[in-house]
Amino acid sequence: MMPDDTVVIDRAGLDHLVDVLRGHGYRVIGPQVRDSAIVLDVLDSGAALPAGWGVETAPGRYRLHRRDDEAVFAHSAGPGSWKQFLHPPRRKMLEIGPDLEAVPVEDVPPRFAFLGVRGCDLASIEILGRVLGGGTYPDASFAARRKDLFIVAVNCTEPGGVCFCASMGTGPGVSAGYDLALTERTGADGHHFLVEVGSPDGARILAELTSRPAEQAEVTRARTEVSDAAGRMGRQMPELDIRALLRDSLESPHWQDVASRCLTCANCTMVCPTCFCTTTEDVTDLTGDHAERWLRWASCFEGDFSYLHGGSVRQSGESRYRQWLTHKLGTWHDQFGSSGCVGCGRCIAWCPAGIDITAEVGKLAELAGDPDADG
Ligand code: SF4
Ligand code: SF4
Repeated sequence: MMPDDTVVIDRAGLDHLVDVLRGHGYRVIGPQVRDSAIVLDVLDSGAALPAGWGVETAPGRYRLHRRDDEAVFAHSAGPGSWKQFLHPPRRKMLEIGPDLEAVPVEDVPPRFAFLGVRGCDLASIEILGRVLGGGTYPDASFAARRKDLFIVAVNCTEPGGVCFCASMGTGPGVSAGYDLALTERTGADGHHFLVEVGSPDGARILAELTSRPAEQAEVTRARTEVSDAAGRMGRQMPELDIRALLRDSLESPHWQDVASRCLTCANCTMVCPTCFCTTTEDVTDLTGDHAERWLRWASCFEGDFSYLHGGSVRQSGESRYRQWLTHKLGTWHDQFGSSGCVGCGRCIAWCPAGIDITAEVGKLAELAGDPDADG
């Protein structure tokens, strides 16, 4: 992290970065304040960044607050993730007219530039790449969106109350998979960003900005601030063999306990940056002359998600939560070679019942008699 050629840009330089990316034809996506949350959306200029805003998170809780500085990346994950741009929530696949001919809808995505991608979310983009972009039948829509993606990552120095990326090995620092990486610093020596280059495209964009070489002391302080953030995570995933725990806990009484709190609302799967399931819907207009097929996100918490002829395989909330957790943290390894969880904490903050994935794993371990069950 932070090699010798690290440079420094100021706040005006960050705004210029947005302009330069737009000038190169990128659709720049970044954080901004809307509807009492920090959301990800198209950035027309750096002025829309959430300067001076922080967030407070806890199970079932997310609140914005004003900071006493003008930091723009001092907020943990909001309700939206970058997934919505790489794997849209709804996408029209084909249209059928009166002649009953199915016409595929042309899918020509923009070239995206993501500004402000934290370690957890960088890992989630990599996971989605393996899930949707890999294998024998890659998802063409995802692949087209991912192909020219420019990523400006952010080393996190402000973890939130529901964050646990350090215990998932995905943050708070970023180490690969970006074009440029920023570390934001505020304080006595001013508001600035240390910038590292991660690709030739990143070097080309950085060359258009006004920057100066970073001093060794600045690099050392920034490194310390990022590593200190690992010790300020609000949560941690218990350090144990979770795959084995879940494999051996299929009949645990704890699933019933979770089900007594879980509303099966599917919020956790909608906000999760790695949940990828979809279903298709066919719709017609009132005349019956025009029909469309849409792809939309689906959730393993939906009643008809596991519908087979004759009924749903998972009829109880207990079985649906167990499916979600055992896939996310267990069988995901078998399918895709890693955990499906990056420790962003979104599912904890946005669960209306405050159900906490780290606490539920800890409780399962405790009931299984694991001495390391301290989430
Ligand atoms: S765990 Fe929480 S967010 Fe997920 S379905 Fe249950 S109530 Fe909804
Ligand atoms: S399971 Fe929860 S903490 Fe893990 S990646 Fe998904 S939303 Fe984030």
